[in-house]
Amino acid sequence: MTVRLYAMTLGRLDVDMTAMIEGGSGTARVPVPGFLVEHPKGSLLYDTGMHPSIQRDPAEWLGEARAGRFGFDYPPGEEVSGRLQAIDRDPARIDLVVVSHLHFDHSGGNGLVPNAGLVIQRREYDGAMDADTAARVGLDRRDVELGHPLIKVDGEHDVFGDGSVVCLPTHGHTPGHQSLKVRLDGGDVVLTGDACYFCRTLEERRLPARVFDRDAMRASLDRLAALEGGGAKLIFGHDAEFWRSVPQAPAEIRF
Ligand SMILES: [Zn+2]
Repeated sequence: MTVRLYAMTLGRLDVDMTAMIEGGSGTARVPVPGFLVEHPKGSLLYDTGMHPSIQRDPAEWLGEARAGRFGFDYPPGEEVSGRLQAIDRDPARIDLVVVSHLHFDHSGGNGLVPNAGLVIQRREYDGAMDADTAARVGLDRRDVELGHPLIKVDGEHDVFGDGSVVCLPTHGHTPGHQSLKVRLDGGDVVLTGDACYFCRTLEERRLPARVFDRDAMRASLDRLAALEGGGAKLIFGHDAEFWRSVPQAPAEIRF
């Protein structure tokens, strides 16, 4: 059972580092990652990046306030459908999207993979449907209201039923954030998503300024650390330095 894993950079964001990590300062340009997983039973994406309209006018989709907190480096062709086409994959034939969480830089490209089912933690979905929670945490319900079949899951979820691709609940950043564990020939890779922005987040347990639940996020970091201790390779959410070491599609991530 061979599973293939590919990384794609879906644009970059300039972010305020004081918000990204305790003790951070200044601004930094960070990647917006997306991943393609190919399994004999189907293909999936882990996250779809930003909404394509952000390439023209970030405020149109995000509103002035939210758009004003970031710088955007997102030229045409870097949206997930463009990245897939560049490696001869048809966006219309992607079977599933595992939604890490409903922040704009993770689920904004869902509309570009129109025939995929969305695998989302029920807690995340419910959070987005609750107006107060959605506003406080910045969850965008529009990304799950495009007509995709929704596959709401509770906790760990074995996507293809053979243990090779497993959603891991890593709540805390948002109510129902999930990471993704992918078993490659050489071992497990864990795509942390925003459960862990940077390598340093884990090493030094320095959290972002605003998270939904700090205790839950710390517990999720403990879980990721345990996986790493057990031999898994972690791929972090927004770590520019680390990202340079990750081969980009069409090269495969191997482990
Ligand atoms: Zn993010």
